[in-house]
Amino acid sequence: MQQSALVIGGGISGIQASLDLANMGFRVYLVERSPSIGGRMAQLDKTFPTMDCSICILAPKMIECSRHPNVTLLTYSEVKEVKGSVGNFAVKILKKPRYVDEKKCTGCGICAQNCPIEVPNEFDVGLSMRKAIYMPFPQAVPRVMTIDKENCVECGLCERVCMAKAVDREQQPQEVELNIGAIIVATGFDMFDPSEIPAYGYKQYKNVITALELERLLSASGPTGGRLMRLSDGMIPKRIAFVQCVGSRDRREWIRNAYCSSICCKYATKEAVIVKEHVPGAQVTIFYIDLRIFGRGFQEFVNRAKAEYGISFVRSCPGEIIEDPITKDLIVWFEDMTTRTPRSLTFDLVVLCPAIKPREGAGELAKVLGIDVDDYGFFKPLDAVSRPVDTPVSGIFICGVCSGTRTGDVPDSITQASATAARVAEVLAG
Ligand SMILES: Cc1cc2nc3c(=O)[nH]c(=O)nc-3n(C[C@H](O)[C@H](O)[C@H](O)COP(=O)(O)OP(=O)(O)OC[C@H]3O[C@@H](n4cnc5c(N)ncnc54)[C@H](O)[C@@H]3O)c2cc1C
Repeated sequence: MQQSALVIGGGISGIQASLDLANMGFRVYLVERSPSIGGRMAQLDKTFPTMDCSICILAPKMIECSRHPNVTLLTYSEVKEVKGSVGNFAVKILKKPRYVDEKKCTGCGICAQNCPIEVPNEFDVGLSMRKAIYMPFPQAVPRVMTIDKENCVECGLCERVCMAKAVDREQQPQEVELNIGAIIVATGFDMFDPSEIPAYGYKQYKNVITALELERLLSASGPTGGRLMRLSDGMIPKRIAFVQCVGSRDRREWIRNAYCSSICCKYATKEAVIVKEHVPGAQVTIFYIDLRIFGRGFQEFVNRAKAEYGISFVRSCPGEIIEDPITKDLIVWFEDMTTRTPRSLTFDLVVLCPAIKPREGAGELAKVLGIDVDDYGFFKPLDAVSRPVDTPVSGIFICGVCSGTRTGDVPDSITQASATAARVAEVLAG
């Protein structure tokens, strides 16, 4: 039995599983596909229901992970091959070239200041620009720059200004081989693209945005420094609508997402409350099919949103959103369920809450690992009730949102992550 574990995915689930195992004395290799660990939680402004600052909770865990003597971080890396069985998996990992020496880079950012190329910033969901040499976000771990070769024009400016001589444009992909006792998969989720429902006008109308875009607009480290504004004209919105179940519970042939994404009711309520805190006089309306807000304290959270913040909950799934071509206001058409008649309301800003989807590449990773996916492409547990974090492959476990929307929020993800760590410890000790 190798007394080591491989954790795939460095979001809150993978970070928690890694820390639990490392604290138990196991050697942990944490593989993250992007340049920094953190996952989606790093993009959030505040977290429900306590309204704590998301990055303030996450960043200490990210740093603990990077400094823990039992954890080796392999960022900007992907698992390419897994052979063997529980107790002794032979794993091949591809470490992509950053074109920056991780050991030399101090993360000072002078290279980015001098880089002439600007491209949409993925971390801000395209609402701001970043340079071709970049740090994904200010609290990134490791604190190292990465050159995005696809957009780099090879001007050499970054190399010239780097005092640490860290830029290495000749860097090559590296293959890392490891022998591992057990594997935890925690690759998280992607989001449904609302432009697949043209009637909602996403990408056609600037003032129709997604909930993740709103998180970035509300965040002090976001593109507007935390000032909520319309993208069409910079106006502070006073009438804001949230539309739930965008691509969730939708059986239309080209969507085929019959499942509930499980977190949207909670985060829409949270975002509505934060919007009211940013714009106290605002009228905020949440359109919902039905409120699926289970979990301790959540019904009370909704009650407070209604009573203390005056947020309106309208039971209806809007059919169409139309933009006024002059004011850029948005007319939301929906069926009034009390009178059974079509109605419309006008808003300054509409926030769509898109379905949660399996991560891009989840199917390929499942093949590499030999584990199953469900009808929608999420990793499938051995038994959802009695073995919720096991897979049919002994020694391979799943946690967090990659295992489906039964685990939607951060507390659920952390609980599952600790469950996988406990199962790994059990297997390796046995
Ligand atoms: C708009 C919005 C608001 C939310 N608000 C809240 C809230 O207020 N409170 C709350 O509790 N929850 C909230 N959530 C849910 C929260 O974001 C998730 O519970 C949490 O991010 C799940 O963490 P995870 O680690 O499972 O997945 P992720 O955060 O998605 O992390 C997965 C990580 O794995 C990496 N990865 C993916 N594929 C690979 C691969 N093949 N190899 C290596 N690495 C890979 C990714 O790059 C990523 O870093 C919100 C979600 C959304 C969309």
